[in-house]
Amino acid sequence: MIPITAVKLGSEVEQSVLEVIRSGILAQGPKVEQLEREFARAVSVPHAIAVNSGTTALVAAIEAAGIGPGDEVVTSPFTFVATVNAILESGAAVRFADISRADFCVTAASVEAALSPRTRAVIPVYLYGQCADMPGIEATAKRHGLAVIEDAAQAFGATVDGRAAGSFGLGCFSLYATKNLTAGEGGIITTVDDDIAERLRLDRNQGMRRRYEYFQVGHNRRLTDLAAAVALPQLVTYPQTVKQRRLNAERLAEGLDGLPLRTPRQLADREHVWHQFTVQLAPDIDRDAVAEALADRGVGTGVYYPRLAHDYDCYREHPRVIRTSTPVAAAVAASCLSLPVHQHLTEADLNQIVEAVRTVLRRDDVARRVDRGGNHGRPPRSSDQSI
Ligand SMILES: *Cc1c(COP(=O)(O)O)cnc(C)c1O
Repeated sequence: MIPITAVKLGSEVEQSVLEVIRSGILAQGPKVEQLEREFARAVSVPHAIAVNSGTTALVAAIEAAGIGPGDEVVTSPFTFVATVNAILESGAAVRFADISRADFCVTAASVEAALSPRTRAVIPVYLYGQCADMPGIEATAKRHGLAVIEDAAQAFGATVDGRAAGSFGLGCFSLYATKNLTAGEGGIITTVDDDIAERLRLDRNQGMRRRYEYFQVGHNRRLTDLAAAVALPQLVTYPQTVKQRRLNAERLAEGLDGLPLRTPRQLADREHVWHQFTVQLAPDIDRDAVAEALADRGVGTGVYYPRLAHDYDCYREHPRVIRTSTPVAAAVAASCLSLPVHQHLTEADLNQIVEAVRTVLRRDDVARRVDRGGNHGRPPRSSDQSI
């Protein structure tokens, strides 16, 4: 089976972790400091603050922007649930803006449409590794005095107009196991603001500047040197990782041309880091049947994400989750399917993926029969009603 994600770390990582184990400094120490320095350089910002997860990065950034109870934050409903959870943890309310089919992100216009007098921040989510239209969203945020917090969990290395993800506001990154750059668990916040950087550093370490000297109420949000040691060697090879993912994405897009699906594209002003390669199947295609048929042919797939983040009882009934109509996001959630694009794919894997998708989409049993004129005499499946 060709897996949708593959975590393969080399001997440099083994060596780096071994160094930490032998040093006896397992918690936050010199490896974290080095990771912060190199990460900040990669994003072209003065400050990177490492924390223990991407979710923590979002929570800390939202709090550092001064957002809390009584405030509203606008974000995408088509995201990993951590974005929504982080907003709710801060005490703020969340309101959703629709996405564009071109980049799976909120747009300046959709953010504008979702604003209320209480809106204090916008959190664009750079889904699958491509930034949102940040020049547009930045202008909207400026006009309305909103903080910009970037959910760049999937987009380390991505750019818009040559500017890096994480340099438009408070950048929030994840080092979770399956992200392009991984520490197993971990997160990083980037900022150009010296005061916010200082507050974030204090916040993650119990508000302590020196031992037992407390300057603000804080937390333990520290990353370990063990985790930083896993990530550091991957930073060195990261340009090759992205290049390989880009080549794989180009090969897939080319191979899947002419099928009843929309392939993902890198937009003209952006550099995509291809965390995922996500196609949008035509509305008459049964996604579950396609995924099953691809698995039978040895091709693993993923659905990121099958439902909108607020489309669960625990959010539907939440007093601080404000639901708005987001028809594009709903349609994309119902039709998206991610194919393997990771850097460990071989030429043979890529051929197999393309051949499998071409074969499966030629079969008429993957078409939803209720939506079509001819149903080949077979009854519709119950799931055919679901969208
Ligand atoms: C992974 C991810 C997060 C959360 O990161 P963790 O490190 O898992 O806490 C947040 N937002 C998005 C879009 C993600 O993909």
